Amino acid sequence: MKAFDYAKPSADAEAIRAGQAASARFIAGGTLLVDLLRLDVERPDLVIDLNGLPYTGLDVGAGQLRIGALVRNSDLAAHPEVIASFPALSQALLSGASPQIRNMATLGGNLLQRTRCPYFRDVAVDACNKRKPGSGCAAIGGYSRMHAVLGVSDQCIAAHPSDMCVALLALDAQVHTRGARGERVLSLADFHTLPGAHPERESVLEPGELVTGISLTQSELAKHSVYVKARDRASYAFALASAAVALELDGNQVRQARVALGGVSSKPWRCPEVEQALIGKPATPESFTAAAALAMRDAKATADNGFKVELARRVIVRALSLASRRT
Ligand code: SF4
Repeated sequence: MKAFDYAKPSADAEAIRAGQAASARFIAGGTLLVDLLRLDVERPDLVIDLNGLPYTGLDVGAGQLRIGALVRNSDLAAHPEVIASFPALSQALLSGASPQIRNMATLGGNLLQRTRCPYFRDVAVDACNKRKPGSGCAAIGGYSRMHAVLGVSDQCIAAHPSDMCVALLALDAQVHTRGARGERVLSLADFHTLPGAHPERESVLEPGELVTGISLTQSELAKHSVYVKARDRASYAFALASAAVALELDGNQVRQARVALGGVSSKPWRCPEVEQALIGKPATPESFTAAAALAMRDAKATADNGFKVELARRVIVRALSLASRRT
C-alpha cells in the first residue's frame, strides 16, 4: 500500500476544499476503500475521513424520511420506519455483505460502491478501462459470468454491485449533495452514469462534492415494496440478478408499479416499460410474466452470462408476486 496523508475535517467546507484534489479520496466506513488501497487499485496522496461531519441523522417528518450519508447500513436496515414504510430498503440492506461489514458501511459509501469486476481489482491485469482509461477491457472476451447485460458499452461491461441502490431506485429516492458550487438534489435515477466511452466515471458528482444524504417519500406504493436477490450462496454474495418492486393495487388490479433491477446492469436499472405494462392489469402470475419479458429486450449477453436474462425475468415475477400478496 502506498503511504498517504490523513485528514479528518469537522466542517464540510474543509472536506469539499480538500476533496477537489485529483489525488484525494473520501473515506467513511472504509469497507471498500481499504480493500482498494491494499490492492493498489487506489493510490491517493490524501485520505479524507468524513466521520467528523454531522451527517449521521435519520429523521422522519412531513411524510418524508431523511437519511444522513454517514448512517450505517445496519442501523438503516433495523430502523422501525424503514421496516414499516420502505421494506424493500431494509431487505436489500440485509441481503448485502455480512453483519460486520453492515455495521461499518455507510449510506454514502454504498451509493458509491465500485464494481467487483475481478480485472478491475487486479493490477497485474493491464487492460481495464475503468482503472486505466484507454487500456482496454479484459472482461470482454475474458471471464464474464458476473458481468452486466444491460447498460454495457464496448469499453466496459462491469456490473454495479449495490443491493441498496436498487431498492432506493424503485422507491424514487432523492440524493442530496453539497459541493464547491453549493447544494444539489438529484433523482437517484440521474446519479449514476453508464460506462459509455468513460467507464472511469461512475456518477455525476463533481470533484470534492459530498453526498450528504438521501430522502424518501412515504406512500402506499413504498409500503408494499419487496427486494428479491438471486445469488450463488445464501449470504455474503453479490447478486446474479435482483429486483426491487413496489405495487399499489385497486382490488386485484395494478394501479401503480415500480420495478428496478440489480446484478445485471452497469448501474442500478429502472424498468419503466415493465411498470407501464403492469398498470391496469390483474395482479396475476400471467400479467407479471408478460411484463417481466419486456425488461430484458435490450440485453447484450456474453458467452458466460446469458443465464442472467432469464434469471432476471424470473426474479421480477417472484418479487411482484410477493409484493401483490402484501398489498
Ligand atoms: Fe475494467 Fe470494466 Fe472491463 Fe472490468 S468490465 S475489466 S471494470 S473495463
